[in-house]
Amino acid sequence: MNKFDIIVIGAGHAGIEASLAASRMGRSVLLITLKKETIGLMSCNPAIGGVGKGQLVKEIDALGGEMAKAADNTGIQFRMLNTSKGPAVWSSRCQVDRRLYQKYMESTVLNQENLVVKEGEVVGLIIEHNKILGVEMLNETIYAKAVVISTGTFLNGVIYIGLDSYPAGRINEPPSIRLAQALRSLGLGMGRLKTCTTARLDGKTIDFSKMIVQEGDDVRRPFSFFTLGAQLPQKPCYLTYTNKKTHRIILKALRDKKLLHIISQGVNPRYCPSIEEKVLRFSERERHQIFVEPEGLDSEEYYTNGLFTFLPKEVQREFIQTIPGMEKAEITKFGYGIEYDYVYPTQLYPTLESKLIKNLFLAGQINGTTGYEEAASQGLIAGINAVKKVGGEEPFILGRDQAYIGVLIDDLVTKGTNEPYRMFTSRCEYRLILREGNADIRLSEFGHKLGLIRKETFGKVKEKKEAIHKGIELLKKKKLKPSPEVNRLFKNFGIPELKKAISFAQLLKRPGINCAHFKELDMNLEKVISENAFSEIEIEIKYEGYINRQKEEVRRMQKIERIKIPSGFEYAKIPALSSEVKEKLNKFKPLTLGQASRISGVNPSAISILWVYLERKNLVK
Ligand code: FAD
Repeated sequence: MNKFDIIVIGAGHAGIEASLAASRMGRSVLLITLKKETIGLMSCNPAIGGVGKGQLVKEIDALGGEMAKAADNTGIQFRMLNTSKGPAVWSSRCQVDRRLYQKYMESTVLNQENLVVKEGEVVGLIIEHNKILGVEMLNETIYAKAVVISTGTFLNGVIYIGLDSYPAGRINEPPSIRLAQALRSLGLGMGRLKTCTTARLDGKTIDFSKMIVQEGDDVRRPFSFFTLGAQLPQKPCYLTYTNKKTHRIILKALRDKKLLHIISQGVNPRYCPSIEEKVLRFSERERHQIFVEPEGLDSEEYYTNGLFTFLPKEVQREFIQTIPGMEKAEITKFGYGIEYDYVYPTQLYPTLESKLIKNLFLAGQINGTTGYEEAASQGLIAGINAVKKVGGEEPFILGRDQAYIGVLIDDLVTKGTNEPYRMFTSRCEYRLILREGNADIRLSEFGHKLGLIRKETFGKVKEKKEAIHKGIELLKKKKLKPSPEVNRLFKNFGIPELKKAISFAQLLKRPGINCAHFKELDMNLEKVISENAFSEIEIEIKYEGYINRQKEEVRRMQKIERIKIPSGFEYAKIPALSSEVKEKLNKFKPLTLGQASRISGVNPSAISILWVYLERKNLVK
């Protein structure tokens, strides 16, 4: 048992998807983790999805990953966010039972064929001629054709609670120091990032009557395209606010210069700031929102979303008790911060393979991202590409016009990041065509071809695609004629009366009309079209103009995205390129002209020069 096709280091959200994908694609895989009991542990909030993140989870699902299924099986509150905005940004989120989520992932991994799980610490990497051959554990060496590293916040991790600090990978777990040294000694560029989490409270000591109840959606939309949906009973969340007194206590604590220094140094996630950063940065605000979220069905513990903190325990206790409903709250776990090493992701190809060491892949928080969904997306892509590399096959790379996962990885490997990177809908330029609701239509054919989506499952997606097509055709053909009855209904709908016959598709484009109105107007769409195709038909018709414009833009951009730059291309041969541009292109080694165009400092004229050169030399295929 000391030889595998692929070794995955780390059983967090990235490592799980990487090891499941690689083993399901038929390779022998070893998953190494510091503790088996923490497989799939959610280090921070017990929730999956959110704005921009829901899209990632749906795409992972459409490609044959596990995260969405785990969420459906363990979700205790489902919500669709952003419904007041356009469908391009609708995003699913669900609160999960933390313990059950972990159990689900643990059992999936432990029961997976071709996958062996081993407990222990990887302390070194075996490399010869710039190619990885295996890993060193404390007492043994294990060989593999490819290795994926997904060690999260563990590399040289240091925990901070107030002025106390000590080495740790996350609470109650050791840091990974020797592996961090091994990566540095390879010559990989590495930086430091920070993040923090919040206190957990004993629900028996919270007065929920002083908070606003936040129920989930009445209709629970499942995360996965391929499950039956939510299985468990649902639980509410609660909303409360900080106040001037809370802020005064925090500001008083920050008068301690040493504490202020600890909090101000290093790079925190911009979009998930600590409560002390919020109080300092937004001093004009009188209150900040706190979502009080259940940790599980049978758990009395509550997570205080919005109170992320590095502050000392006694300060946490004092400010928490100023918040309505928390006056008598007892803390079951204190918030803490962590600082850790990450690897600059511009040193990776879009397959997530290192440019420096062949067959070495990196995925997850180690690449400078934050969040379970971002980690899982990278894990899936790294696992798939490790298999492809070992089999000598073409890599699997998703474009920015194909998936949020493509945007995430392209941003990381071409632009890099110097702060924890979180996905948002605004990062995605083609968000109207990359909706979470059509991720199955967009991506499950890839999942099927990769061997990660079964034939019958893919057959259902094909049926849905066909139903959408038929539904659109039907609505374009079928006409609605004006009549007193029709206009009486139009009056009820609050829209101007119908003067001449129009197609149902034209009618759907009118503001205030949706497919549900068709039931009353002669046409019962549900009888002809399956329900899961329904909302996609509505979006495709209503936003047809915008969607077509975006597709046209994609076609324009695809031209340069498809032009490959040969590996090892010598930019020095093009005198017209400035030395700065040559240096950047040599450093980033873009695979396509499109990727080159997104490197900062590589201007459009440099791209034209490069394009002309490639064409003249007959290098454009
Ligand atoms: P992890 O889930 O961290 O998993 C790492 C795995 O690597 C573990 O299984 C560990 O045992 C293993 N490992 C490490 N070193 C070795 C080794 N040498 N040998 C063998 N195994 C090893 N995300 C947010 O979106 N918002 C937040 O506000 C937020 N706050 C956070 C606060 C804290 C304190 C922490 C710790 C994390 C926070 N996160 C937050 C981040 C979130 O937890 C991560 O993004 C996510 O878990 C990363 O997944 P991963 O798979 O990359 O790594």
